[in-house]
Amino acid sequence: MTLTGRSLCGTVLLALATAPLAAQAPTAWPIHDLERPRPVVVHPGGGAFTPPPADAIILFNGRGLDAWVGANGAPARWRLVEDEAMEVVPGAGTIRTRQEFGDVQLHVEWRAPSPPTGEGQARGNSGVFLMGRYEVQVLDSWENVTYADGQAGALYGQYPPMVNAALPPGEWQSFDIIFRRPRFKSDGTVARPARVTVFHNGIVVHAAAELIGPTSHRVRAPYEVHPDRLPISLQDHGDPVQFRNIWVRPLPEQP
Ligand code: MG
Repeated sequence: MTLTGRSLCGTVLLALATAPLAAQAPTAWPIHDLERPRPVVVHPGGGAFTPPPADAIILFNGRGLDAWVGANGAPARWRLVEDEAMEVVPGAGTIRTRQEFGDVQLHVEWRAPSPPTGEGQARGNSGVFLMGRYEVQVLDSWENVTYADGQAGALYGQYPPMVNAALPPGEWQSFDIIFRRPRFKSDGTVARPARVTVFHNGIVVHAAAELIGPTSHRVRAPYEVHPDRLPISLQDHGDPVQFRNIWVRPLPEQP
């Protein structure tokens, strides 16, 4: 490293050290701004099935919805379909895991209805909600224009994915998510915001992105203190999106 490089590095480190600990707004862009540049399209090599590793907790393998419940803990009313999948039953409501999780590695496969219907947010919309409140957006983003922070792989309302790695509707796609839950101080303020890394069809679309708060529509809501472990949920947004091969690995807590 050159002297210039070293001093530049020192300047950056100093800037980081003096930055406030609270989460910062991801950009100056207003939420759901249609003018916000949309990520470039990168065709993935595929959305292939990834078998669960030996220590994974299987949340869904096609054989039943035992790991999931609906609102108020009632049985999950999504339907089992061919290809070891489950499908959103519009109106049946969001489902959540019986088990609660904090920091996790999560693998989810999904596919949007084919042929597609609707456009924008009304085409193949669902979502993976970490701790029931931090959404990685599921959407048919194949030749479907919507606001950048709401397309497939977006940390909804906050960060667009780095690229549009979508596959066509009807093809299985994957999310591999590494989630670090937020840490709260005893006074209820944020000690460390939630961090999310996401691979969409094997392509990184977020690298330790710091959430500014829970997912909310049209507004950016502030953090609210919540338990260290909460269920993972899948969204009923009225579209018959399918899911398969869902597994999770709880991660050791970082000090
Ligand atoms: Mg959604």
